[in-house]
Amino acid sequence: MPLRCLDDAGRSLDASLLTTPEWAALTATNRHVRHLRTTCCGAPLVLKTSRLGTRFFAHLALGGCSSGDEGPEHLHLKALSVAAARAAGWTAEAEVSGATPAGEPWRADVLATKGRHRIAIEVQWSPQADDVTRARQARYAASGVRGLWLFRQAVTADADVPAVRVRGSLATGLTILDLSAADFLAAVFDRRLRFGFPVGTTAEATVAGSVARCWGADCGALVRVVTAVDLAAGGSSCHLPVAELGATPTLLAVTSGLPADPLRGRLRMGRDESIAARCFACDRPLTPRPGSAGRFVVARVALTVTPVLVAEIVAAPGYAPAWGITTVASTRANA
Ligand SMILES: [Zn+2]
Ligand SMILES: [Zn+2]
Repeated sequence: MPLRCLDDAGRSLDASLLTTPEWAALTATNRHVRHLRTTCCGAPLVLKTSRLGTRFFAHLALGGCSSGDEGPEHLHLKALSVAAARAAGWTAEAEVSGATPAGEPWRADVLATKGRHRIAIEVQWSPQADDVTRARQARYAASGVRGLWLFRQAVTADADVPAVRVRGSLATGLTILDLSAADFLAAVFDRRLRFGFPVGTTAEATVAGSVARCWGADCGALVRVVTAVDLAAGGSSCHLPVAELGATPTLLAVTSGLPADPLRGRLRMGRDESIAARCFACDRPLTPRPGSAGRFVVARVALTVTPVLVAEIVAAPGYAPAWGITTVASTRANA
């Protein structure tokens, strides 16, 4: 469902930039003389308005053009992308064709331009294999264009391929990363879609705890124990069981900076640099049962991501980077 078409003089017409009288006049003229053509295959077309009020051009005859298969969600996301880009001061057009310096053609659902920056937004409602996505991304990269993929399918986290999953429906609202599609796209053009734990953004460390009974026969104290630290920023997470905190001094420091709790076991580093909690009463090492009923959140702490923190967590087994909307630390401080 194209948002753009060509008239008989080869001029590009953008459905979202036409006024209501212009749209009505164009509809009447095209009905009589069929002077408009699609940009995809040059076929005659009709003017339509979706149930959500988005104006678009549709092939007069169905079949024979792959672009004609786009569904209403595809149309809606394209229109939202164009609107978000323009609202952020970018130049944006739907259905833009280009080619790499080597002559490989591409066609972007939406191409947004600001200064030297060019972003192609691709709505991919039908399944697409990861190697196909990477090949199409490489074609954009060769043309100096950054591709962003809005997939219906689950996405594979890849630092080189910005990709997110679209959930929901037109009836209930399309969402991306728990934001409305419009809010997500606004954040994209605010350059807050980032991969992993970008330096200078805000991460949240959740200190998880549990209650363990000290096994010492002469003790038996119920001890509150730190079991793990979960770091989260944007779409990324890193799970660090307490034993692994020896490799992440920044997060170990978070646990030592917690408000005082006389019933919380002290964390001590062993000779192998692994960390274990010890009974507050008798100092014996404690092993909280995994999944025990007494799990709770000890604290949530906001941290600014530093190069040191990133270096500490990238090698952790629980490091799970992904694309997500980040919070810029300085912005937060000024808010
Ligand atoms: Zn076509
Ligand atoms: Zn004890």
